[in-house]
Amino acid sequence: MRTRFAPSPTGPLHLGHAFAAMVAHDLARTAGGEFLLRIEDLDQGRARPEWERAICDDLEWLGLRWDGPVIRQSDRAPAYRAALADLWRRDLLYPCGCSRADIAAALSAPQEGAGPAQGPDGPVYPRTCHGRDWSEFSFAARSGFPLPEAHALRLDMALAGQVAAAARGRALGFAEEGRGPKGEHGWIDAECGTLGRTIGDVVLARRGMAAAYHLAVAVDDAAQGITHVSRGADLFEATRIHVVLQALLGLPTPVYHHHRLIRDSEGKRLAKRDDARALGKYRSEGATPADIRRLVGLG
Ligand code: GLU
Repeated sequence: MRTRFAPSPTGPLHLGHAFAAMVAHDLARTAGGEFLLRIEDLDQGRARPEWERAICDDLEWLGLRWDGPVIRQSDRAPAYRAALADLWRRDLLYPCGCSRADIAAALSAPQEGAGPAQGPDGPVYPRTCHGRDWSEFSFAARSGFPLPEAHALRLDMALAGQVAAAARGRALGFAEEGRGPKGEHGWIDAECGTLGRTIGDVVLARRGMAAAYHLAVAVDDAAQGITHVSRGADLFEATRIHVVLQALLGLPTPVYHHHRLIRDSEGKRLAKRDDARALGKYRSEGATPADIRRLVGLG
């Protein structure tokens, strides 16, 4: 068994991160397996080396030792580019020049029914740029890979679902050994036939970034040989996207272990709070790693 903890170095670790790291670590160690660390610093505008150092220091203080070298997403651009170029050649990507405001405006037009569906990345993209004449876009050749200067490359999800299911030759899905947000457990069907409507055309490459999260996570989990992805239940729905990408790129699908999120006393997710108490604060007040375990219900 090989698990990983994949923090973004955009701030200090708080209790929610500590819990995620401990769950992934304990799963691996209990099974005599390995626990890896991956620094998700795709967003170079927000990532800081000093946060990475602080995260490593907190993990060591918690007694969580990781195996092998630390992988940094900022070093992985060639692997992402190869995957994007593969999808591009197969006509599974299209350029998108929409801003958030453009998408909101397109979705605010009167609709029948309950309004726009919400996917893991927000409202399902209305496909404004799908089928647009590409001569309207100017492309920047970034190290051999064409990226639209304006904004992004999106995955044609309806097509991708079909191609992915055909590539695997069986129903796509994943084994959930933890719990999704509604208690989902066991075999989870990726529901490829409906992904175009429920998840929509997610962004896989963004200007100024080597790749977007969904692509990087699928490529990196495979590159690191992760057998069990342990992470918060907030990423449960996104797993369907990752399963499709794994099938498209010929990568294995790991087992998933989604876990509960640590909330404050008002029930608000710590990750959503700017003032979430950093682990360093507890440390400076004399807490021990055992106290932290107890605070998150692992003691
Ligand atoms: N980097 C993500 C985060 O800090 C975790 C992604 C994952 O575990 O797949 O929330």
